[in-house]
Amino acid sequence: MKILIVSVCSVAVILALAPAAAFCGEKPPKPEEKPEMEDPSLTGEEVKEASGLENTLATTYAKRQSTHFFLETSYPMESAKDYIKFCEVQYADFLKWADLPKDHNLWGQRAHIVVIGNKGEWEALLRHQYRSLPPKEQELRMKIGGFWDSHPPVTFNLSHEGATPEADKLHILHSLTHLFLHGLTGSGGDGFIPWLYEAFSRHRELELFGGLGGGCIAFETQAERGKDNSWNDPDDWVKLLKKQVMQKDDEEFVMFWHKNLMDVSIPTYVKSWSIIQFLVRDDAAKGDFLRFLKMLKTKNDQAKALKMVYNFAPDDLEREWRAWIKKQKSKKLTRREKKPSESGGGDD
Ligand SMILES: [Zn+2]
Repeated sequence: MKILIVSVCSVAVILALAPAAAFCGEKPPKPEEKPEMEDPSLTGEEVKEASGLENTLATTYAKRQSTHFFLETSYPMESAKDYIKFCEVQYADFLKWADLPKDHNLWGQRAHIVVIGNKGEWEALLRHQYRSLPPKEQELRMKIGGFWDSHPPVTFNLSHEGATPEADKLHILHSLTHLFLHGLTGSGGDGFIPWLYEAFSRHRELELFGGLGGGCIAFETQAERGKDNSWNDPDDWVKLLKKQVMQKDDEEFVMFWHKNLMDVSIPTYVKSWSIIQFLVRDDAAKGDFLRFLKMLKTKNDQAKALKMVYNFAPDDLEREWRAWIKKQKSKKLTRREKKPSESGGGDD
């Protein structure tokens, strides 16, 4: 398999350096793993041929390929096995979530996963990647923690200094989930719908691991910019959304459903996450949501898909969600350990 540095088209999206550890202020939760023998269908096989990335960086990485992934990392082979197994497990889990058969092929080719734990090599990669940009733009790109693209499916991830393997996996899961949605819908770059894709990745991160990985938008960075960090804790999200709805302070769906990635505010991303919660609230709703997703070949298909699946105009979705969120109780979404100084129950 020839591996090239991905050319970033308009849809390739940067992953902000927002490790879960920084977000929650504590170590990210460890994904549950059952003790088991190594399974070659999950850990794949070693790839010895030099990759395009290795040639570009004049380095040597541990490389493996499995049924659905080609993975390379600056970490040792044991880590490569661990990461590729995680990707295969998530792939199988997504197929299960989407009611697809186990042998369903989302992309028609292996997705390329890169995990780089060496800051110098990461920066060299970015300089190569963005070499055609003006120096000032290049410097801005040096701060990102990852990027991905839907076609071919690739995700490049910086494992920042001190990151645990679990934090790296949560980081990978964010963009991997974007790739899963593109695979489900059969869409390319113009199928990326920021409010929906970001919110769906956050939904999966919290549901599966009780934490948030680095995403395309850095929550805490945005908070610093906006001088508002009140949305940093997912455990407060339902409470804050209800307050906003009561005060009619939230952004209406029709105001953000076509916005670009960087134009959506953090509170609106959280509202988007909540709309996903509403759309998957029970099995019947989830079935409708799947039908809705599969119709989204481009971002311009939203109105038609809402109409055909839900018989909704966008305003109807807004109204139904508002009625629903008002009845929801706040519940603990994160799985962090409580500090001894924290008291009281997590749920209300
Ligand atoms: Zn994202």
